[in-house]
Amino acid sequence: MNKRIDLHMHSLFSDGELLPSELARRASVLDNETIAITDHVDSSNVSSIAKLIDAIDDVNDNWDINVVPGAEVTHVPIEVIDKVAKKARDFGAKIVVVHGETLAEPVIEGTNLTAVKSENVDILAHPGLITIEEAEIAKENNIFLEISARAGHSLANGHVAKVANEVGADLVINTDTHSPDNLITFDEAKKIGLGAGLTEKQLEKALVENPIKILKKRYLI
Ligand SMILES: [Zn+2]
Ligand SMILES: [Zn+2]
Repeated sequence: MNKRIDLHMHSLFSDGELLPSELARRASVLDNETIAITDHVDSSNVSSIAKLIDAIDDVNDNWDINVVPGAEVTHVPIEVIDKVAKKARDFGAKIVVVHGETLAEPVIEGTNLTAVKSENVDILAHPGLITIEEAEIAKENNIFLEISARAGHSLANGHVAKVANEVGADLVINTDTHSPDNLITFDEAKKIGLGAGLTEKQLEKALVENPIKILKKRYLI
């Protein structure tokens, strides 16, 4: 059975329901091999990543799951997206996600475009009605576009997949887990990809090759 890599999850450090350790334990039971805990950050709480890392170290030292500390830069002025992403890295985030222009929330316009221009960003999450231009820049800068398993954010999955495939930008499939019932297995993630219109070959890239590419880019494997 294929193991799952999920690079977008929330713990109690933002609006998730679980402590980092319980999130890791529950993900591990569903055959998640690697997860990134990417709590929502702005300048007020970005330093909490240092605390998150204490729990992650305990898990990684003792359990058979690889947990990566990360952050999701969320609803900040576009002028500070890169600054907050850089700060997150300085506090130890290895995977930096930006909360893209989802159809489910009033994310400020320009967030997608600013995120795909930042060298500190790895994944543009749930980018809603992303444009061809934004996807092209994402491709140039090795920033991955997210297909989301999360209700609401998933409304634009078909569009995101279509635009990404049109320009050859890389996709990943993440849960954006906030509560235990949001966690999924590899096979369930596959269905999310199929629902977005991905072919078997595109699915293999989005579920296996691309997340590995991100982990390698940040020297995590
Ligand atoms: Zn959230
Ligand atoms: Zn999120």
